[in-house]
Amino acid sequence: MNNTVVGFPRVGKLRELKFISEKYFRGEVSKDELLQVAKELRAEHWKFQKNAGIGMIPSNDFSLYDGVLDAAVLFNVIPKKYRELQLDDIDTYFAMARGYQGDAGDVSALAMKKWFNTNYHYLVPEIDDDTEIKLTGEKPFVEYHEASQFGIQTKPVIVGPFTFLKLVKYHGQKSADDFAEDLANAYTNLIKQLEELGAEWIQFDEPSLVTDLIEDDKKLFLKLYEHILAAKGEIKNSDSKGKTKLLLQTYFGDVRDCYKEIVELDFDGIGLDFVEGKESFSLLEKYGFPKSKTLFAGLVNGKNIWKTDYEKVLSSLDTLKKYADEIVLSTSCSLLHVPYTLENETSLQPEVSQFFAFALEKLQELNELSVLTETDDFRAEKEYLENKELFKKERLYRNDDVKKQVEALGEKDFVRLPVRSERAIIQKSELKLPLFPTTTIGSFPQTIEVKKNRTQFKKGEIDKAAYDAKVNEFIKNCIREQENLGIDVLVHGEYERNDMVEFFGENLEGYVFTEKAWVQSYGTRCVKPPIIFGDVKRTKPITTEYLKYAQSLTDKPVKGMLTGPVTILNWSFPREDISLKEMAFQIGIAIREEVNDLEKAGIKIIQIDEAALKEKLPIRKSDWYKEYLDWAIPAFRLCHSGVKPETQIHTHMCYSEFDEIIKDIDNMDADVISFEASRSKLTILEAIKENNFETEVGPGVYDIHSPRVPSVDEIVKALEKMLGKIDRNKLWINPDCGLKTRGIPETKASLKNLVAAANILREQY
Ligand code: GLN
Ligand code: ZN
Repeated sequence: MNNTVVGFPRVGKLRELKFISEKYFRGEVSKDELLQVAKELRAEHWKFQKNAGIGMIPSNDFSLYDGVLDAAVLFNVIPKKYRELQLDDIDTYFAMARGYQGDAGDVSALAMKKWFNTNYHYLVPEIDDDTEIKLTGEKPFVEYHEASQFGIQTKPVIVGPFTFLKLVKYHGQKSADDFAEDLANAYTNLIKQLEELGAEWIQFDEPSLVTDLIEDDKKLFLKLYEHILAAKGEIKNSDSKGKTKLLLQTYFGDVRDCYKEIVELDFDGIGLDFVEGKESFSLLEKYGFPKSKTLFAGLVNGKNIWKTDYEKVLSSLDTLKKYADEIVLSTSCSLLHVPYTLENETSLQPEVSQFFAFALEKLQELNELSVLTETDDFRAEKEYLENKELFKKERLYRNDDVKKQVEALGEKDFVRLPVRSERAIIQKSELKLPLFPTTTIGSFPQTIEVKKNRTQFKKGEIDKAAYDAKVNEFIKNCIREQENLGIDVLVHGEYERNDMVEFFGENLEGYVFTEKAWVQSYGTRCVKPPIIFGDVKRTKPITTEYLKYAQSLTDKPVKGMLTGPVTILNWSFPREDISLKEMAFQIGIAIREEVNDLEKAGIKIIQIDEAALKEKLPIRKSDWYKEYLDWAIPAFRLCHSGVKPETQIHTHMCYSEFDEIIKDIDNMDADVISFEASRSKLTILEAIKENNFETEVGPGVYDIHSPRVPSVDEIVKALEKMLGKIDRNKLWINPDCGLKTRGIPETKASLKNLVAAANILREQY
């Protein structure tokens, strides 16, 4: 059986692309040097795939920054403000990606958005009424040609026209439909040129097809592809070269809203996701699969780091053979979402790493699976038997007590009493906070000194006592500083953490960490998610000592700072042998224990951050509750249902785009929530008012992502706007996120203005 991958990671095994790009941005290397490294990486990636025995190797899946941006530039979707800079092609491209500030002008970057339900972010192309869509770029041709010079026939990959038009932001009066014909022509030209170069297959990525589609979406989809496929048919009839096959590739779910339409169109191949696509099998069963087409079966998980269960894939293939004559084994989505290779991991125990397959290892799996499909009886083959053995093995960090604890959870574990309005009264008299209390989100600037302390400790250059002494010194300064500024609810500054998830992962049993397993988050930014390997258990208090110390330094309340279970889960690679719900509850129990310990240690306010709560909200609305919110919100409640009424529970979310789930956010039953509001258009305030949002709120009054210091006046104005929608007794004043990436001078200046603004408002009210 032939095999392929939907796409391959781009940043390089050791993040070579990131480092050379950053050097280029700083003016330390030339454009040629950057492009040379990029070229070498492409060659390396093709060779990896070739050597692993991949049959259909993608090209144009590489990108200097982002694939959606590549498509925009390819089709001339370059807003005027970037053209006017009159930079060369590459620098115009980077200006769109990162903004530009220099001799040629000053423009901000395109907006960035989460790529469906992943932690990858794409750039949002902008179209206005006079945008002229046409094929002007050359990237797919160049890269196709490059690969063929190594004797590698590739499958050029590009974001499909439907997904492209769905993701674009329209600035003028015109909408997607108005651009459909031009875009279809541009894609037709692309096909023609690739055809001339000799491409055997072209892959159009259409993940937007797995979202909830309305009639207009289907019309747009049909309009685009009827046009493209008709034009392609003409080439086929008129030209002997017209042999290039077209693959419609979908991923991140199933195509239940348009399966019937898809199979009726004249595609040569259809790529379906059988990992996340819950209905993919039943769609085939219900509507069949045309004999004339090739099914690209996404059976190897492109998003997670676990070895593939061969038994499962091979029996799935047996089922699929009933429907399709021609099958190509594939990944469920691009391997962009997994790290490169296990080869660079030196400290993982073999008992652990034997269960993992990163991108390179997945290539090998695809190859083995392909070979197994050719054997008379795969059940007798060594590769199969070894894989089967592995899946039977007992895993490290199995903890039956934790399992029992989760099983024993009952309704009362998810309900905090008394109800919030009664608690509010008790807390008011206990905490004696002024009107419009001021606070911060938790972290304070991570100076070189702070980072050095951590590195020294990690390297074993200093012992725990020396390390903690330093952390305590930072805490002491931080408390002093906040007292001087006149902030009401203080924080300890989070000097012991590099990352809000990694820190807790490191302190919980069941987690494992990698050294080089980076995954691209956007552009040059990569993340290294920890891995939930076994049952998660807290074995000792994690933050109480630091908090106790911080509280001992002041009479004002110090807010304990924890990361919530849903965020810890969403920013980790999850297990595949138990449910997300079970993992969330296991982590929830661990955080609950920490919450209770903080309370016992005399901490009166505890914040449980759920920065990433919205990230894994399912793509389809119909799945929101049963697949996610029905356990995610309880997992949070589990953390705090055991505290006394006078303990005030805060939470924080990084975005304010939660209008649609505002009731669920209120149902988390926190006493106070803070969120980003300074960059968004404050539509959330409207939603808060309309829904009688009960939780007290601190909509961030300034943007911490920029070093800019907000003026007092500006903050007062923002607050006045908020007071138009929020009950004055429920409004908190805070920045919009943690301050760890900021410098000390702007942090002090900004907080000083924040407190001054609070004082002005208190006078007024
Ligand atoms: N408490 C965390 C901090 O202040 C929250 C970070 C976040 O929301 N991303 O850094
Ligand atoms: Zn945040």
